[in-house]
Amino acid sequence: MRAGTGYDIHRFREGGATEGLRLGGVDIPGVPQLEGHSDGDALIHAIADALLGAAGEGDIGQHFPPGDPETAGIDSRELLTRIVRLVAARGFRVHNVDSTVIAEQPVLGPHLASMRDSIAHTLGIDPSAVNVKATTNEGLGDIGEGRAIAATAIATLDE
Ligand code: MG
Repeated sequence: MRAGTGYDIHRFREGGATEGLRLGGVDIPGVPQLEGHSDGDALIHAIADALLGAAGEGDIGQHFPPGDPETAGIDSRELLTRIVRLVAARGFRVHNVDSTVIAEQPVLGPHLASMRDSIAHTLGIDPSAVNVKATTNEGLGDIGEGRAIAATAIATLDE
């Protein structure tokens, strides 16, 4: 068994565009998008880094450098799928993932089950092996003032 951790933060797009937030592979309408080279899905990125960490394979930025036109605007679930393939090629299987989203807005409770299902589907594991939690930042700092969303994750791999 090997474990890895991941962390990511993305700011909300400026300008009040409410084109829809994507988090954990779930589209949440009426909320601004997060900035990013890909779709800005901070939760998927944190999970991706946790998997890479557990496999001893660096981080997401090394595998998918920001600025690469091939991944511009890409659905982060596609990046996660590629990382699962890489991890499998190294002889590992995803055992479980736990994660926390830190966001002042929107209220994420109604979306957590969908995120869990989406992540489990992308990882090719049972939803019971995936957990997604949400908390606020108690109004403190950039996250607390609603300017960004952060996520942390831990993943374990079976050899
Ligand atoms: Mg990111």
